[in-house]
Amino acid sequence: QTPGQAELIGKNEVLSLYKPRYKYAHKGDYGHCLLIGGSYGKIGSVVLATKSALRIGAGLATAYIPECGYEILQTSVPEAMVVTDEEDDYISNVVIDFDPSVIGIGIGLGTHEKTVDAFGKFLKQNKSKLVIDADGINILAKESRFLEYLPERAVLTPHPGELKRLIGDWKDDFDKINKTKEFSKKYDCVVVIKGANTLIIYDDNIYVNTTGNPGMATAGSGDVLTGIITGLISQGYDPLHASIFGVYLHGSSGDLAIQETGYQGLLAGDIVSYIGKSYIELF
Ligand code: AMP
Ligand code: MG
Repeated sequence: QTPGQAELIGKNEVLSLYKPRYKYAHKGDYGHCLLIGGSYGKIGSVVLATKSALRIGAGLATAYIPECGYEILQTSVPEAMVVTDEEDDYISNVVIDFDPSVIGIGIGLGTHEKTVDAFGKFLKQNKSKLVIDADGINILAKESRFLEYLPERAVLTPHPGELKRLIGDWKDDFDKINKTKEFSKKYDCVVVIKGANTLIIYDDNIYVNTTGNPGMATAGSGDVLTGIITGLISQGYDPLHASIFGVYLHGSSGDLAIQETGYQGLLAGDIVSYIGKSYIELF
């Protein structure tokens, strides 16, 4: 079986999805997103994702992190709100008192056994749209019974290592795509396979991103993408459209950033700084 036609994601495709802002807009129009993640020594992942969600245009953002990250988060992203877990160093129980428009979960999460339990409990009661990355994917791969609790059109953003844990190894690219399609259909999820030419797979549809550069092969780059896609869903983009729009803008922000930093000098935070400019460059 061949994997079928792939559609390239370029500027025109992205422009057709773009939602303009209107004069009388207020922050309530752009959703309240929640980023859940972090553990001792990995709070930076949530900093990057939360900042990215706000930069891409979410109305409000809250970060749910272990207690040890409180000051770090509030200081580095003063625009965000923070709710802390009762544990200092890892997430042990997700308790929130509002209905987020969308939740991005998994960045820097770790796989402490209490975190794994908390993740399962969270999924069972969750009613929000979801973006799942990093250890969120690793936990789903290990505890496959959690997969049945995914909401419709959840977005999963594995890099190839995480994808392998999730769907098993593949023989070649065709096999990888076919296995991912099967997985997407079974769980009704959007799978974003990150890499030099990020692939988005939903049902039988395949989209290939055209932006980005090898400078983006750097720590935290994926956390930025998680925040971007979460922040787009928060503004009312459909999860598939948010994934398409998000990978394009993530790559084009990286492309603008390297003009200043070069490939080697690029930090994930530089990608975040250029999100605004990459919106402007669309027009
Ligand atoms: P992660 O491995 O989770 O940090 O994610 C890395 C991010 O950087 C993904 O969004 C990748 O698509 C992107 N990336 C990594 N390497 C490259 C590359 N060589 N060219 C373009 N984008 C890349
Ligand atoms: Mg990652």
